[in-house]
Parts: sequence; C-alpha cells; structure tokens
Amino acid sequence: MSMGLFDKKFCDACGDKIGLLGNRRLEDGNLCGGCAKKLSPFFSDRRRSTVADIKAQLAYREENRKAVASFNATRSIGLGTRLILDEGNMNAIVAPPGRWRDGNPDVIGFAAITGCEVDVSENRAEERYRDSQGRDVGYDPPRYSYTYDFWMNIHVSSPYFDLIRFRINGAPVARGGVDYGECEAIGREMREALESARRKAAEESSAEAVLCPLCGATTIPKAGRCEYCDGPVK
Ligand SMILES: [Zn+2]
Ligand SMILES: [Zn+2]
Repeated sequence: MSMGLFDKKFCDACGDKIGLLGNRRLEDGNLCGGCAKKLSPFFSDRRRSTVADIKAQLAYREENRKAVASFNATRSIGLGTRLILDEGNMNAIVAPPGRWRDGNPDVIGFAAITGCEVDVSENRAEERYRDSQGRDVGYDPPRYSYTYDFWMNIHVSSPYFDLIRFRINGAPVARGGVDYGECEAIGREMREALESARRKAAEESSAEAVLCPLCGATTIPKAGRCEYCDGPVK
C-alpha cells in the first residue's frame, strides 16, 4: 500500500522533485510549478495535455525568447493590456501592463491571426443606502447600477492556444462616460490593426517571386521589400 504522504513525485518535464502541493497533473504525468509558469498564459488545456505536448510547448516557449528579443515594436495600442505590432516582421504580441519583454509574451505571426472581435459584458450591482436606523438596505423595488467591460478576442491558429482574450479597460466603465467612448475607440483601433495585419499576411502568402531591381535576386517580397537586400520591390 502506498502512503500518499511519502509518495515523491518528479516533474516529467524537467526531472525536479515536486514539493508538497506543488504538483500540476498532466494527462499522463506530473508537472512542477516552475515548468507550469513557463507555459503560455493563453494556454488552458494542461490537464488534457500529455508530457510530450508539454515538452513541445516548453521548447517552443524557449524558442519564443529569441523572437521576443528580435521583436521590433512599431505600434502599440491600448492602455493596460496592449496589442503591440512589429509591422516590418509581421508579428504581434499581447502584453500585460509593465515591461512586456520580461514575461516572454507569445510572438504571433500575422498569418496565424484568424479573426477578432470585441465583446462588451455588463456588470449589475444593486444600489444600497443607509436607512434612518443606519442599516444597509436595498431599495424596493430594487435599483441597479451598471458598468461594462470591453473584451478583445483574437482568434489564432497555434498548436497551444486558439484564443487570446483580454480586457481593454482597467476598472469597469459606466455607459456614456469618457472611458466608455475611449474603450470603444481602442477596440476599434485594435480590430482595424488586426484586420489589416491579416490582409497583409494574405497578400504575402499569395505573393509571387519577382526579380529585385536593386540586387537582382529572385525574391518573394516581404512587406513589399526584397528578402535579400531589403530594397522596395513592387
Ligand atoms: Zn519541471
Ligand atoms: Zn534585392
């Protein structure tokens, strides 16, 4: 008979011993907290993942550090969580507030973006007041106040996640206020940027090899530029 207390578990990804309460179950093994932290924040299917799946993802996440290092931000949209674009290399990241490079954010190629939309969710809170005896009471009939959250959904084609969902606003916003309008505008700007990124990727994938007038190479232009000399190509 095995005594649970004395069962030593080891991480199937890195081999480290897993401390008490530190275990994350996989479909066919165990994962330590340190390795779990390295997974993509947009990934949510751990329990149904195999050790092999997780190892592949950890390898991809390590590779992603290089992509982050060479990411050249040309445009940033948003207040808290931002959509940051590298338009030259046709990559995007979604970064939480703060120093975005530190978190090894997933670098998403424009070609992997399959769609996006904004949805607005409503929060309802009952209004309360102090009655003459100082008690906290609700109105009869009840009165409610409403606030709203703006969510950006970006659909992506990746082996590890298919939806990046984040809140555009910081604190919930009231309808008709300045913040509400600002959230609408940010949502629109993100959507337009993502749609234009998708169009660019589609153009690229149907691009044909041409002769570069500058260096003479036969090149498939990337973002309108020769892949060898970076000169403008029609
Ligand atoms: Zn581990
Ligand atoms: Zn060239």
